[in-house]
Amino acid sequence: MSERTLAIIKPDAVRKQVIGDIIHRYEQAGLRPIAMKMLRMTKAVAEGFYAVHRERPFFDSLTTFMASGPVVVLVLEGDDAIKRNRDLMGATDPAKAAPGTIRAVYGASIEANAVHGSDSPETAQFEIQYFFASMEFAGG
Ligand code: ADP
Ligand code: MG
Repeated sequence: MSERTLAIIKPDAVRKQVIGDIIHRYEQAGLRPIAMKMLRMTKAVAEGFYAVHRERPFFDSLTTFMASGPVVVLVLEGDDAIKRNRDLMGATDPAKAAPGTIRAVYGASIEANAVHGSDSPETAQFEIQYFFASMEFAGG
């Protein structure tokens, strides 16, 4: 079933200059970018995005990191896009991510782990509308 998921190329990966390689990996995996932009989150925007994690001990550090530099946010569309992207990303901790996954290749730590991907249809819907208005969907 065709689905949409939200992906973020995080500040650490943008600093490494691997935006192009990560987007190439999405396309090679059959995940088609249908909306995309580069932006810098404020701390408040990062806190709203990660609100489900507000009670976690890493919340302040995570949201400071996400606001530390520009990110690329994308909506990816394709069959089983949510799980397909999670598989392509690898585990949250790059040290535990399967070889060849984006986080295994580019992640530096459990926090600076290169990419975000929605984990369910409900979070995908929330996360897509958090960053994109309907008029911004160039490809669908
Ligand atoms: P995922 O991004 O794989 O869905 P989570 O939703 O559990 O992982 O966490 C959101 C983000 O918070 C992670 O991608 C990572 O950047 C950060 N994070 C998760 N766990 C930790 C941790 N123990 N310490 C620091 N940062 C963490
Ligand atoms: Mg998550």
